[in-house]
Amino acid sequence: MQNPFQNAMSQLDKVANIKNFGEEFIARLRHPDRDIRISIPVKMDNGQLKIFEGYRVEYNNVLGPYKGGIRYHQDTEINEVKALAFWMALKCAVAGIPMGGGKGGITVNPRELSKGELERLSRGWIQKLSDILGPMKDVPAPDVNTTPEIMDWMADEFEKITGDKTRAVITGKPLGKGGSEGRGTATAQGGFFVFESLKKDINLPEKCKVAVQGFGNAGSYAALIWKKAGHNVVTVSDSKGGIYNPDGLDIEKLMEYKKTTGSLSGFPESKEITNEEVLQTECDLLIPAAFENQITAENADKIKAKAILELANGPITPEADEILFKKGVSVIPDILANSGGVTVSYFEWDQNLKNEHWSEKEVFDKLQPILDDSAKKILVKSKESNTDLRRGAFILALERIQEKM
Ligand code: NAD
Repeated sequence: MQNPFQNAMSQLDKVANIKNFGEEFIARLRHPDRDIRISIPVKMDNGQLKIFEGYRVEYNNVLGPYKGGIRYHQDTEINEVKALAFWMALKCAVAGIPMGGGKGGITVNPRELSKGELERLSRGWIQKLSDILGPMKDVPAPDVNTTPEIMDWMADEFEKITGDKTRAVITGKPLGKGGSEGRGTATAQGGFFVFESLKKDINLPEKCKVAVQGFGNAGSYAALIWKKAGHNVVTVSDSKGGIYNPDGLDIEKLMEYKKTTGSLSGFPESKEITNEEVLQTECDLLIPAAFENQITAENADKIKAKAILELANGPITPEADEILFKKGVSVIPDILANSGGVTVSYFEWDQNLKNEHWSEKEVFDKLQPILDDSAKKILVKSKESNTDLRRGAFILALERIQEKM
């Protein structure tokens, strides 16, 4: 797999080539403030001790406490976490929230652990890192394969160690345990607000034919939200493959089906297709919502979508970006498209510290204008520099960080 951190740095270089931010500033951004690797010993159910490798990268806290999710995946490694932490720093700047960039992870396939083992592992991550975490220092959140329940265990462990009862140390907690209304759907909902804000400018039709890669937190809610808004979601996929129906999939039924069967395959009135075919579907909008490096120099030329909205982080490599730009495919970049997640995380932190609880309507009423404003500013930046939206987003973020620095 391509090194995601090298990809992130090559995105930074591309921006430095078209806008002069000064060498020292760019050099500073090429390095995280610190990257931490930890070992987490866990007593497994069979009585044996197993050691897991975990990470926390604190990239930059110029704008506020480090902020970023924790990923549990068998392929998670330090370069991936560093790239994700770098993008978080830019994402918080794009959203204009007072948070810096961080990210964490553990190399583990959580499906191979019992619930008790998973809880001991999650508490172990906090035990090793409690010194550097805190509402005013570093505030983690969920990412791939981490859930509100895991966030709850972590907040509880932090409280036991430090006595801090605000629960503002971590976001994405369950409702009733310090979680915010709207956090579960925030990433997809935010992506939709950004899409609404830019769709005319990037020449998308009123009603779009949509393809979604990934059917987890980000992807399944995206499919549902676009469908409910009257768009035609023709294909979705998960790690095992995709399903397709040219007349549109019933996403509510599909979510139920996936919950009961654990799979998308066999869903009535759909045909099974491969993940590659999902990406290459003839459509107006493609929404990658799984992992990094999905659209590369190898398959970018085969993309038939008119526009791509990156709900996943880093799904398009820098080489693929160039190919898509030449083909005239508009790419709405991750640091804008999925910034609804971290923005509502920030709202959760804010509510915890003020001891408030906002309704879902209040949450989305606050989110929409923030994302609309960022999207419009990024469009202007990209036009001013005659470049794509990704570079436009980087320019906005870097200007905001540089100003504060
Ligand atoms: P998740 O674990 O809930 O879902 C991931 C989904 O991707 C699963 O459905 C999985 O089956 C699927 N998948 C894995 N490999 C695949 C493949 N090769 N092809 C198709 N599908 C595949 O994770 P998530 O929280 O939805 O995160 C997905 C992406 O969105 C990640 O890049 C994450 O960093 C990004 N993101 C998530 C949030 C959030 O709030 N959840 C916020 C910002 C960004």
